[in-house]
Amino acid sequence: MFHSILKRQLKKVGVTPESCPSLEEWQEFLARVNRAYTEADQERYLLERSLTISSEEMQNVYEQLRQSETRYALAAQGANDGLWDWDLTKNEVYYSPRWREILGCDSTEADSAPRFWLDRIHPDDRGIVEAELAAHLEGNTQHFQNEHRVLHKNDAYRWVLSRGLAVRDENGKAYRLAGSLSDITERKQAEYKLQHDAMHDTLTGLPNRAKLMDRLSRSLIRNRHGSEYSFAILFLDLDRFKIINDSLGHLAGDQLLIAVANKLTALVRPDDMVARLGGDEFVILLDHIRDKKQVSPVANRIIKALSHPFRVAQQEVYTSTSIGIAFSASNYEKAENLLRDADIAMYRAKAKGKARFEIFDHEMHDRAVTLLQLENDLRHALQHDELSVHYQPIVSLQSGQMIGFEALARWIHPTRGFVPPSEFIPVAEDTDLIYPIGEWVLRESCRQLKEWDEQFPSSQPLIVSVNLSAKQLEKRGLVEQIQGILQETGLAAERLKLEITESVLMSNAEQSIVLIQRLRDLGICISIDDFGTGYSSLSYLHRFPIDTLKVDRSFVNGLGSNSENSEIVQTIILLAHNLGIDVVAEGVETDEQLGHLQQMKCGYGQGYLYSKPVAPAQAAELIQELNTSNSAPEDDQSSFQTAQPAR
Ligand code: C2E
Ligand code: MG
Ligand code: MG
Repeated sequence: MFHSILKRQLKKVGVTPESCPSLEEWQEFLARVNRAYTEADQERYLLERSLTISSEEMQNVYEQLRQSETRYALAAQGANDGLWDWDLTKNEVYYSPRWREILGCDSTEADSAPRFWLDRIHPDDRGIVEAELAAHLEGNTQHFQNEHRVLHKNDAYRWVLSRGLAVRDENGKAYRLAGSLSDITERKQAEYKLQHDAMHDTLTGLPNRAKLMDRLSRSLIRNRHGSEYSFAILFLDLDRFKIINDSLGHLAGDQLLIAVANKLTALVRPDDMVARLGGDEFVILLDHIRDKKQVSPVANRIIKALSHPFRVAQQEVYTSTSIGIAFSASNYEKAENLLRDADIAMYRAKAKGKARFEIFDHEMHDRAVTLLQLENDLRHALQHDELSVHYQPIVSLQSGQMIGFEALARWIHPTRGFVPPSEFIPVAEDTDLIYPIGEWVLRESCRQLKEWDEQFPSSQPLIVSVNLSAKQLEKRGLVEQIQGILQETGLAAERLKLEITESVLMSNAEQSIVLIQRLRDLGICISIDDFGTGYSSLSYLHRFPIDTLKVDRSFVNGLGSNSENSEIVQTIILLAHNLGIDVVAEGVETDEQLGHLQQMKCGYGQGYLYSKPVAPAQAAELIQELNTSNSAPEDDQSSFQTAQPAR
């Protein structure tokens, strides 16, 4: 609308629509008119002081001036701008009706004082506006231009763009300053929203990674230059978020994240920053740390606050958080490195049992580098057949006969030699390498058992126990994968036993029960590994549809010498028998331990007393021995000389 009116008006004063097709070009035109206006005004000044000028010439100049003023007014009206004209000699300002309208004032509020404008400027902006006005009046800038906030009558600030040009006398001294005022609030709001969105997480409204990195970088620079200033960052990861998200749905997960974000923000000072990196990861920047000791209480406060239940999706949801802490130091070149170290410390906190905090130290860094190397090497190992499976006999404690093996992964590293599974399995679990490794161990163990079947056709059917990690259990398609392996290798499902540690089972009991049931429906047996070390889930035991329970080595170790341990083992065995579950004692090393276990009527055992885990060739020899002893006379029943009859 304005576009067409303005074009029509401009045409009248000699500007064709073609020469000003866009708003930018009008603005350019406006500036030109502004210049013409100033020049004309200067001429008028000169004329007024000139006694030699003819009345005709005077008439011409005034006509030019009138035209340029008209043009200026029209252009300003077209652009919906307000006008102001400051007579510096009288210190009075003319404010046009539109100028007043932008500020919500009506024309009755006629005030010609400069303060009418200046006093309305936002306190944070006023200094710079006055400085720029002064700079232009002193002739240091070509024109005056500034974006600032002015107070509207409705008490809200509006963003305006004010432009102006000084009119000067022959000495260059400004005696008049005139210009325009445009309302740019909408543009500023759009700009602000764009900027805000680019720097904030849409779900929680917290600063995002980009904003955090920006702040961290600036804080690091400050730390490098001013020795007094230091800060800490806390890297948080919620401990059970995935389970909550999977079981209650993403909507509930989102609600929990919002609630956590709010709680974290309430727990720190306004100068600190709480940011969300994505997923269930948050970072807190604690600013102005005077003493590192200040940080631990904050971390504890956060851990405590997040351990209280959250009300999400009409129910109480429990979560906890693991926190890694890193302190600013002058040797940090990049913000990413500081964040990385806090992340490493957070992983350490997780590994040490979750719901706790750890402070980064350089040993952690070295360990992280080693782990990274181990991960690369493990990837390589998978592709270059450096992994193998060793087999440890599981023996009936009463008869001393071997009934099967536990399959245990082995890695011979080309330069480091033997790497124990306690070292590489956790790395595999952290990096998803556990999927191919776990699948390979399963396939290889089933294939091996089948090979022994063919090698020793008369042998009693042995079972193989394969360890499953938490991640394998969580992955979709596990049941189908195992079914496929059984079909492929031709091993009967009843001869495969899967070992799941107690802590893994308990961390997600409901889902585990469903999964275990599906595996058992196929005929596969299930064993709880390392029993007694996790949540001591004795009261839960009856809910798990399992076949076997393996008493952890630490209990077997103390048998006899530690009466408390003996009582625990006895209780576990009794309870298991009541539930119709077999018990395997892990880590049987001495005759004394064996004696106690036999007395307690523990069914099976596994340990160095019988055999260490051995390579397939040696395991084959053990099967061979078992077959020989089975066919031997009655009194030589045992393939393992150590097995004693029950006392
Ligand atoms: P686990 O499943 O509890 O395996 C039993 C561990 O106890 C084995 O350690 C075995 O060598 C050791 N052991 C057996 N008898 C004795 C004994 O009399 N005394 C002592 N001191 N130790 C004994 P290993 O082979 O080092 O395996 C450690 C853990 O690594 C396993 O504990 C298991 O959790 C994990 N692991 C091993 N192979 C695999 C695998 O293929 N997949 C998965 N997910 N985990 C595996
Ligand atoms: Mg095991
Ligand atoms: Mg075990």
